[in-house]
Amino acid sequence: MIQKPKGTLDILPDETPLWHEIEDTVQYVTSKYGFSEIKFPTFEQSSLFKRGVGGTTDIVQKEMFTLDDRDGNELCLRPEGTACVVRSVIENGLFNEPMPLKLYYFTNFFRYEKPQAGRSREFFQFGVEMFGTPKASADATVISVADMLFKRLGVNAKLNINSIGCPKCRPNYHAALVEYFSAHKDELCDTCKERLKTNPLRILDCKSPICGALCEGAPKTIDHLCVECKEHFDELRDCLSAMNIEYSINPRIVRGLDYYTRTVFEFISDDIGAQSTVCGGGRYDGLVKELDGPDLCGIGFGLGVTRLVLAIKKNAEKRGTALPENEKPLIYIAPMGNKAQIKAIGLVHSLRSAGVAAECDITGRSLKAQMKYADKIGALYAAVIGDNELNAGTCELKNLRTGEKKSVAIDDLTEIRD
Ligand code: ATP
Ligand code: MG
Repeated sequence: MIQKPKGTLDILPDETPLWHEIEDTVQYVTSKYGFSEIKFPTFEQSSLFKRGVGGTTDIVQKEMFTLDDRDGNELCLRPEGTACVVRSVIENGLFNEPMPLKLYYFTNFFRYEKPQAGRSREFFQFGVEMFGTPKASADATVISVADMLFKRLGVNAKLNINSIGCPKCRPNYHAALVEYFSAHKDELCDTCKERLKTNPLRILDCKSPICGALCEGAPKTIDHLCVECKEHFDELRDCLSAMNIEYSINPRIVRGLDYYTRTVFEFISDDIGAQSTVCGGGRYDGLVKELDGPDLCGIGFGLGVTRLVLAIKKNAEKRGTALPENEKPLIYIAPMGNKAQIKAIGLVHSLRSAGVAAECDITGRSLKAQMKYADKIGALYAAVIGDNELNAGTCELKNLRTGEKKSVAIDDLTEIRD
């Protein structure tokens, strides 16, 4: 038997209603903020991510699924959305639109990682990107989109914020960080020994417990901010408070790329195990220019839908609330004989055309098996139509929940509603 590739997930029919609810909520919330959806290719030039995500990141160093386009170019399955959106904004001249430009995506991404709970090789993200405003009120607005989504979906995710400064204040901080970790060099994991040379900020993001413990004593970015960055961070905090969004300051949240500036944030859920970051984002004022676009600032986040699903399920379990289900038919029509089959298919078609979920037998099973099936699929009403009913023009409508029966004209079955 052929199995799905390692690290991919089947999302089965009993789970898709929850996904629809998430997509509907995303659509609802983003439209209130004036974000429009953007779609981009499943694969892009690898160079987009090498430059757009950064050569020293895990994504580029270890996680890209690359393809050969047979013309000597290296392509790769998209590992993340921000670089794709920025490429599209530049290529399509969207930077000429009125600012701020507000875009969102909801799609699948691919990373070659070790599969585990909350981490797969194909996964979905909802992400938003806002371009053209450097103000802290924009950062707070973007953060509030994720917060509103979590609240509407009943997910308990805690907001952690930090500021990693700007090209002006970062060198001071880098120096302090390198000094601190150099003194503990031998204790660092092998990856972090390398990071100390290439990208020391990334050490703060290390998942190893020993590096984690060392990070506790490391210098904090927020203690090294320049006046402007400090003001920006304070304004962000005021804006969040004005929106009653609770947060903690977490000095270990960093985005180890040069073009990330100032605000970085994560939403963390205690309900979903080790892969607890449901959403991560930040301000990337240098990225558009880095990818040969105009000098256009931006801020955004990526929210892992697979982890969101885990969090929603966990919450529903805790609270004893039901998850969304597929729509159940209002009525099941059980035909006996060929003439009744034709009648039933016409009736069911009228009901469906009028927006009513309805079923009739199309398998030719026995009446007993049909009634068992009607029960199983959760139909509220059932009506049996045979030659006698056709001749009389009436049939019995049974409420399968209460057992109550009443006689109705067959042609009136199309009028049945909730
Ligand atoms: P992590 O530290 O968990 O590897 P990351 O920093 O690589 O996360 P981002 O690139 O910021 O993650 O992506 C944003 C969100 O997308 C994550 O917070 C997570 O919810 C989700 N995500 C990232 N990688 C995966 C994956 N392999 N499987 C499922 N969800 C993922
Ligand atoms: Mg990762």
